[in-house]
Amino acid sequence: MASSHADAASMVALHPMNDRPIPLAGALTRQTRQGVVVWGGHRVTVGGDAPVRVQSMTNTDTADAVGTAIQVKELALAGSELVRITVNNDESAKAVPYIREQLDRMGVQVPLIGDFHYNGHRLLSDYPACAEALSKYRINPGNVGRGDKGDRQFAQMVEIAARYDKAIRIGVNWGSLDQDLLARLMDQNAQRAEPWDARHVMYEALITSALESAKRAEEIGLNGNNIVLSCKVSGVQDLIAVYRELAQRCDYALHLGLTEAGMGTKGAVASTAALSVLLQQGIGDTIRVSLTPQPGEARTQEVLIASEILQALGLRSFVPSVVACPGCGRTTSTTFQELAKQIDDYLRGSMPVWRARYPGVENLKVAVMGCIVNGPGESKHADLGISLPGTGEAPAAPVFIDGQKALTLRGPAIASEFQQIVENYIEKRFGTA
Ligand code: SF4
Repeated sequence: MASSHADAASMVALHPMNDRPIPLAGALTRQTRQGVVVWGGHRVTVGGDAPVRVQSMTNTDTADAVGTAIQVKELALAGSELVRITVNNDESAKAVPYIREQLDRMGVQVPLIGDFHYNGHRLLSDYPACAEALSKYRINPGNVGRGDKGDRQFAQMVEIAARYDKAIRIGVNWGSLDQDLLARLMDQNAQRAEPWDARHVMYEALITSALESAKRAEEIGLNGNNIVLSCKVSGVQDLIAVYRELAQRCDYALHLGLTEAGMGTKGAVASTAALSVLLQQGIGDTIRVSLTPQPGEARTQEVLIASEILQALGLRSFVPSVVACPGCGRTTSTTFQELAKQIDDYLRGSMPVWRARYPGVENLKVAVMGCIVNGPGESKHADLGISLPGTGEAPAAPVFIDGQKALTLRGPAIASEFQQIVENYIEKRFGTA
């Protein structure tokens, strides 16, 4: 029997699910301990009710104090709230206090995290100025040494952190997993009536390494609030599985990141996929996107992607957003693409200054649309919007301000006139003077 549109409509209307508002989506919250990362007279909270923090890491030779300070400054200006630097030898440990000094002199208020492997116990002991200048130490339990010697060296680093009241991250990585622990868990696994497969043993080893190390650090005397954990792997599904379990087994703040995410689009997409799933579940108190820079690409790209992930999920706002349509056969000129890029570059480029001058500007939404199909509608939902003429449409671009059509731009200077409108709007709405 043929059904009419009327029949279909009544079936939809009668469905019980239609009689209640569609539930809103949003990230869950997970209550973790809150720690404070301090330097000079400044502080950044991590965990608890603090916003999810963006981290990054330099790729300069830390012994080059000036070059490293410049890159830390670039990362901080891009929005990185904590910056990690490699401390791998005497020269880099000696350079750390000078890097801190340079940053303070430039007015760059960002804490430095020292990344230690193999010899961190010695460097922190031999260079107390380095231990003091850093705000947090990253300790990898997989390469502090093996057996009793490893235990002593781990304890030495934690004691120094406790003495200087520093936070630590116990950063486990599947590429450098504690081999003694792994051997122990494999022996235990062999005793099982039905042994787990290797992947599950590896998951367990990552989590056990982090939790046992954290327990030891607290026993040594470190405040548990100053401990952040991470268990990094390079597979998206592996990362999700490990962090879900880790989040259930502890209330330490968690540092989230897909290790060795890769280059370009692949690295950005893999990190976004993994981090988004976990952040939506409330898992993750600080994030880093471990992107391999393309030759010539700015190191700040990893900060932009991390910020975009948090902003896209609605967890934080960093920069005004530009809503732009993808374009299609209805708009064959590149005018709207160019305008969208111009406005986006202008908004992003202005943020280092605007952050202080225009509080709240990061929530601004600007729509740049290619034609009248979705242009006026999308523009009305934004604070400011422009709908450019599609192919065959009248050469006019209606501009919407706060949902109302305000004026129509025409002629060759549409781009610069619209940018001026955006500037005026920001000054009027967010200016505090
Ligand atoms: S708004 Fe117009 S140009 Fe843009 S994608 Fe939609 S139909 Fe195409």
